[in-house]
Amino acid sequence: LIDRDLERLAAALNQYYTKQRYTVACALQHEEHPKESIANISHDLRTPLTMITGYAEVMRDIPNENTPENVQIIIDEAKRLTTLVNDVLDISKLQSGTIPFNGEVLNLTENIREILTRYTKLTEYKIIFEANEDIYVYGDALKLSQVVYNLINNALTYIGEDKTVTIKQIHIPAVNGKQNRVRIEVIDTGEGIEQSKLNDIWERYYKVDKNHKRAAIGTGLGLNIVKTILDMHQGATYGVKSQVGHGSTFWFELNIYHNE
Ligand code: ADP
Repeated sequence: LIDRDLERLAAALNQYYTKQRYTVACALQHEEHPKESIANISHDLRTPLTMITGYAEVMRDIPNENTPENVQIIIDEAKRLTTLVNDVLDISKLQSGTIPFNGEVLNLTENIREILTRYTKLTEYKIIFEANEDIYVYGDALKLSQVVYNLINNALTYIGEDKTVTIKQIHIPAVNGKQNRVRIEVIDTGEGIEQSKLNDIWERYYKVDKNHKRAAIGTGLGLNIVKTILDMHQGATYGVKSQVGHGSTFWFELNIYHNE
């Protein structure tokens, strides 16, 4: 972490207390528990910091503990801290309007293909993209990439025994004079989510099972970023279908600008 990151994090955290944030927060749904959010994030920051300090001290003081495994723990915890800081910064910047909406007509299909190239090194997983045409939408390319990226990362985290994530692009023809729509589905066959939790997961810092090993890796911010970004896109809708033990399908829809 460089100093500037820490400064920006401090500023972002301070913002949590300000009236301005509260106004922004209240405008967003599901923001009734700012105190809880601060408690959660403080806890999430403290855990990796404690680990880093602890392991570094042990390595300094006990000769045999200066091992590559222990160094790796420090690196992993530092990475986790970086993810957390980046997520908090992303969300605070998005919601304060510091990152403006950069709208353009973009090839959504190509955008997704490009994202998938980043996963080619994960050879233990299969990522399938089903799309039979290139579809253009009006949106912010970088932000929509973030949406797809977050959904795929979650699907990989909760991946099923088939080790497969399927992404479907579906062209929905217009009804009643409305626009044609494109629907993107990100599907996993993993553990699924209880029906009673399906609304909560879009909240900041929400994790279904805080004691769950995999949930402990996450920050609980990914879906809130997805929600915030899609809310910036006119006509966008999104949601999730899930069945415990069978997997989850996260989806979003946008108006089609044109297709090829
Ligand atoms: P995190 O960084 O913890 O993954 P998210 O906001 O992305 O945060 O997700 C919130 C919670 O929703 C997760 O902790 C997890 O419990 C649940 N969740 C998200 N995606 C999936 C999925 N594909 N399968 C099962 N649970 C999921």
